[in-house]
Amino acid sequence: MRSRISEFDLVMPESLDSAVAMLASGEGWRPIAGGTDLMVLLNAGKLPYKKLLTLRKLDELRQISVTNNAVHIGGAATYSHIQRHPVLEAEFPLLCQAARSTGGIANQNQGTLGGNIANASPAADSAPPLLVYHAQIHLVSNSGTRKVPYTEFHLGYKQLAMRADELIQEIELPRPVTTWRSYGRKVGTRRAQAISKVSFAAAARVEGGNVLDIRLALGSVAPVPLRCTATERFLLQTPVTQAAIAHACQTLESEIRPIDDIRSTAVYRSAVAKNILAEFLGTLG
Ligand SMILES: Cc1cc2nc3c(=O)[nH]c(=O)nc-3n(C[C@H](O)[C@H](O)[C@H](O)COP(=O)(O)OP(=O)(O)OC[C@H]3O[C@@H](n4cnc5c(N)ncnc54)[C@H](O)[C@@H]3O)c2cc1C
Repeated sequence: MRSRISEFDLVMPESLDSAVAMLASGEGWRPIAGGTDLMVLLNAGKLPYKKLLTLRKLDELRQISVTNNAVHIGGAATYSHIQRHPVLEAEFPLLCQAARSTGGIANQNQGTLGGNIANASPAADSAPPLLVYHAQIHLVSNSGTRKVPYTEFHLGYKQLAMRADELIQEIELPRPVTTWRSYGRKVGTRRAQAISKVSFAAAARVEGGNVLDIRLALGSVAPVPLRCTATERFLLQTPVTQAAIAHACQTLESEIRPIDDIRSTAVYRSAVAKNILAEFLGTLG
């Protein structure tokens, strides 16, 4: 049954300080950014929060800034903003590719990176690139700020290392990773506007046919977005031969934990994950 909009309170704080003060008040305020996840729940009558605090007026959360060492993406920066940013496009193409393939244009104009992370879905398209790029999540609350590596941010299915009184203030991507070869794929029911059955992001440094460094991350194959460290370890310092590719695929199969759900099956997800890994490794030789 659809929700009655009159049951909800909406506030629009003018400053970050007043936003985090309200979140700390214990009155049950819940942040809303683009609303592309929350409004679907609201429309379906399944939104458990009645007090929404919009980040709409917090301009500092919508900015993207660049320093020598990092790109800082505000928690409420939209996909449209991200995919048009020249430094992100040049240095973090996997994130821009994910931004371009998240929903449709309306979604990309409203949906935010912070919302995608905080929604905590293992199918979130931004997650594999953020793992590959060693993102750091900056959290802010009434009691100050703290930084959590994205690799430690997902604690379990829909569980994050973030308290209800905290906001994702920014996502920091260390620079530069330009000498790496990168590869991203999203597999869904359709080529566009589909939630991922499997998503894949990878980057590697290869010299003389040997893998010097490699980062592999997948979405929708475990309760959390997964960095595949066992497969990475096997590939390090290894010449990329057909035998090595076959062994890497077996290792990947043993470290992912796909399930059957409404979008796909564990068997299909496993087969696709291995095929994409083989496709990527085939480009490195
Ligand atoms: C038609 C459609 C297609 C979609 N397609 C895709 C897709 O292809 N890939 C994909 O990954 N997702 C997809 N989504 C899901 C959604 O668009 C994304 O997850 C989006 O990034 C959510 O961002 P938002 O700003 O709209 O979040 P909101 O709906 O505003 O919030 C989502 C959650 O994040 C919390 N939150 C928001 N901002 C912050 C913050 N700064 N700090 C702390 N908590 C915060 C909210 O409290 C809420 O729990 C789709 C959704 C729709 C409706």
